Amino acid sequence: MMPFDKCPICGGELEEREVEKLLRGGHHTAVLKVQAEVCLHCGERLYPVETVRLFENIRNRLKREQLSGFLPLGQLFMVDSSRLGVATSTSC
Ligand SMILES: [Zn+2]
Repeated sequence: MMPFDKCPICGGELEEREVEKLLRGGHHTAVLKVQAEVCLHCGERLYPVETVRLFENIRNRLKREQLSGFLPLGQLFMVDSSRLGVATSTSC
């Protein structure tokens, strides 16, 4: 199982949870849900070794555009907040 029973950063309690992990490779980004140990105090996420290997695997596949089995999830947008300016308060 996990090598830690306490958070290595702050010593807080860890709880196993399903988290969403964002992975980038080349021009692509993938999202996957994995089990991680999450620190209840600082929010640090700890992943099992095999999960970290899976991340590497997926990053490599994204880089090489080997996307079979990956499900498109709509477009990914990068928002430059400085270009949005001050939001107007007009309601729709
Ligand atoms: Zn912590």
